[in-house]
Amino acid sequence: MIVEVFDTRQDPSRLKNKFQAPFMQRTDVNTLGEFGLIEHLTRDFPLRQPSTIKGVGDDAAIIENGALCTVVSTDLLVEEIHFDLAYVPLKHLGYKAVVVNLSDIYAMNALPKQITVSIAISNRFSVEALDELYAGIRAACDAYGVDLVGGDTTSSPKGLTISITAIGQCPKDQIVYRNGAQVGDLICITGDLGGAYLGLQLLEREKRIFQETPGVQPDLENQKYVVNRQLKPEARRDMIETFRQIGLKPTAMIDVSDGLASEMFHICKQSKVGALIEESGIPIHPEAQLLALQFKLDPVTCALNGGEDYELLFTIRPEDVDKIKFLPDIYIAGEILEASEGIKLNTKGGNLHDLKAQGWVHF
Ligand code: ADP
Ligand code: MG
Repeated sequence: MIVEVFDTRQDPSRLKNKFQAPFMQRTDVNTLGEFGLIEHLTRDFPLRQPSTIKGVGDDAAIIENGALCTVVSTDLLVEEIHFDLAYVPLKHLGYKAVVVNLSDIYAMNALPKQITVSIAISNRFSVEALDELYAGIRAACDAYGVDLVGGDTTSSPKGLTISITAIGQCPKDQIVYRNGAQVGDLICITGDLGGAYLGLQLLEREKRIFQETPGVQPDLENQKYVVNRQLKPEARRDMIETFRQIGLKPTAMIDVSDGLASEMFHICKQSKVGALIEESGIPIHPEAQLLALQFKLDPVTCALNGGEDYELLFTIRPEDVDKIKFLPDIYIAGEILEASEGIKLNTKGGNLHDLKAQGWVHF
């Protein structure tokens, strides 16, 4: 059944559809991929408001608002797609749902101030279960000093969906976009990468074992680090505060939610540059290294394509290197090149590979 109430005089493209049997053409969303789909859907939305400084296409939108800009980012987490309640405690889920949003605000070099939380819940969830979820949300609000200021609650035919919007602030001249990297800049990474992905592999494996042999409790004692990275990630508030203290403004920045390769690709595409990443410069935690080998996975591939680490990938002018050289937890992993040189990985063996941004396919 099709019912249309759009006025075709105001929207001539609708008229065309009338003669063209609507929905005759059916393009699978997978042909575009996540990023192609976002570009496609948002292509005809001109920015009309002078106060809209940055719309779609960065970690957060930027809206001019008096002396400070307002920074806004939103994320949607869907049960069975983004989380599995077989091994994700609701309190951790609440915490992580907030943190991943705050991470996008920090990635603009901004500080988050408020969040809204919207949930859709099936009748499987009790008040006690939702209290647990909100205990996690509260713990994140406490840890990062943000206020819960609203949201929405509705029912869902199946499962749990959480959408969080984070709102932050930043002086206009301090905002760091994905598009500011310049040839010669150094590529920096905070923390270490690949751990969250390996934590996920481990939890998935333990879930399978548990399903096959109920009653067997997983022993994750030696893998606390990666399990923590997956179940209770932190956003790099400390880094943004450090940047302010040492007077460093990165030229471009993004948070690592989809894996280093994908994020490097975003910076390069938007900055219209290329990049060379040194495999030896990619920070990987020893526990993640070991576990990758156990899983017969290449630790570097886990860092490049794993995701969910919520570290920061940023670029700095070479003259700023002294500011970060001795700081703990910041690693120089490569250099920005001309766009024509592509995005390359220099392996420990000295081979140059083209990096590919895999992103994800969820549909
Ligand atoms: P991140 O991984 O940093 O959360 P995403 O890859 O989800 O960023 O989104 C990239 C950009 O596209 C952001 O500016 C986001 O606000 C925007 N975006 C994503 N999905 C939609 C959508 N359905 N409609 C409009 N904008 C979207
Ligand atoms: Mg992001």
